[in-house]
Amino acid sequence: MARWEAIFSPPPSVLKVLEQLEQNGWESWTVGGCVRDSLLGKVPADWDVCTAALPETVQSLFEGRFPVIPTGLRHGTVTILADGMPVEVTTFRTEGTYTDHRRPDEVHFVTSLHQDLARRDFTVNAMAWSPIRGIRDDFGGQKDLEAGLLRCVGQPEHRFEEDALRMLRALRFCAQYGFTLEEETRRGIAARKELLKTVAGERVLTELKKLLTGLQAGRTLLDSLPALGVVLPQLLPLGGFDQHNPHHHLDLWTHTCQVVDGCPREAEIRLAALFHDVAKPLCQSWGEDGNAHYIGHGAMSAEIARSCLNRLKSDGETVRQVTALVCHHDDPPPQTRKGMARLLGKLGLEMTGKLLALRRADILAQSPDTRAAKLSELEGAQKLMEQLMEEQACLTISQLTVDGRMLMDWGIPAGPQLGNTLRWLLEQVLDGTVSNTPEALKQIWEEKNPFA
Ligand code: ATP
Ligand code: MG
Repeated sequence: MARWEAIFSPPPSVLKVLEQLEQNGWESWTVGGCVRDSLLGKVPADWDVCTAALPETVQSLFEGRFPVIPTGLRHGTVTILADGMPVEVTTFRTEGTYTDHRRPDEVHFVTSLHQDLARRDFTVNAMAWSPIRGIRDDFGGQKDLEAGLLRCVGQPEHRFEEDALRMLRALRFCAQYGFTLEEETRRGIAARKELLKTVAGERVLTELKKLLTGLQAGRTLLDSLPALGVVLPQLLPLGGFDQHNPHHHLDLWTHTCQVVDGCPREAEIRLAALFHDVAKPLCQSWGEDGNAHYIGHGAMSAEIARSCLNRLKSDGETVRQVTALVCHHDDPPPQTRKGMARLLGKLGLEMTGKLLALRRADILAQSPDTRAAKLSELEGAQKLMEQLMEEQACLTISQLTVDGRMLMDWGIPAGPQLGNTLRWLLEQVLDGTVSNTPEALKQIWEEKNPFA
């Protein structure tokens, strides 16, 4: 086996695209994330190709052989559906001036790979590889990969002025890959962070989700509050905030970062972790014992999370999940069958599971002195949840063995009383007063009907 095959394993469709271009005399490479990931021993999500051929040439070379989609001709990108798999082919290019810190005013096609690599954001993302040409690493990407350093290609401040999004990309690559910011790059972010205000909300949110679900999210967040605070100023008061309460041994931002790390790596739950205590500095009150308290901080944090996520143009389902988790994160976990049945009925199994996972992470980032008791409470709730699911217990109106039609047969008139009766019957089942069979439900209704 050739040595490269042990490191680079592009799908056959990518090899076919490279071969067709090279056979027609056009220098072509795989480039960017796929080269970085291959060198790290990871499986690349996709393989981008760059070439000296102009977009029209690429189109004409593949037409008749594979379907060709002119994805972004102006930016030089053509997508080849090679054996049904989309392969993006982009002409070597440089970028013109950036007047809005977001997008180049124009792009220029060039003939040298070097110039194309020079426009890329970080050294680890500015490498190319081809099966016939080998690796091209003009900016020391391999050395930085080995050292775990994230370094801008070129002068960091200038590169962040061109495109402010790169600062957030830098942080999320640190979180995803465990990179450390190279010193000049770190200083570049500190100097140009205010430009993050120019980045569109949805692009911020995309990067934030990737950052939060990275393996090194907590460590990255801990060092990034000043930059993150430009896009989410509501987080700034958490930095260094002393909670003045025996349950907490960490400042609020350190606690928050630890909670993020302790949660499963799913975007909604980690966003909830990020915001779970965001309102604490606003809700602080002092008890006679000299401790600070934060009454109602769950609900208030949920409202702040909602307004932040809406501003970042989040989809509605994410907002719904994050705000529910934040709102209930501090509720004591149910210790009775009835209490757990009610919670499951209200939130559903998936969300209840997420809520307990968030609570576990929250407890683990609190003072060790009170941890054991809180964890055993949580385990009790977890067991109740599992028990109810195993029993396939009735938790919602739709799981009752009676419905509106049957209630009408019992003589209840159509109208609001039907719904009220169904809700009342569910309460009786959740309370364990009656079993969920049509006979038992009818009997209790006849005996105790509260609407008679
Ligand atoms: P991912 O695994 O998240 O896809 P990636 O490195 O492939 O990581 P993409 O956003 O797919 O990231 O971009 C592909 C390549 O394009 C990058 O590796 C980088 O070389 C270049 N690139 C992307 N965005 C920028 C940017 N804002 N500025 C400069 N170069 C960029
Ligand atoms: Mg990519």
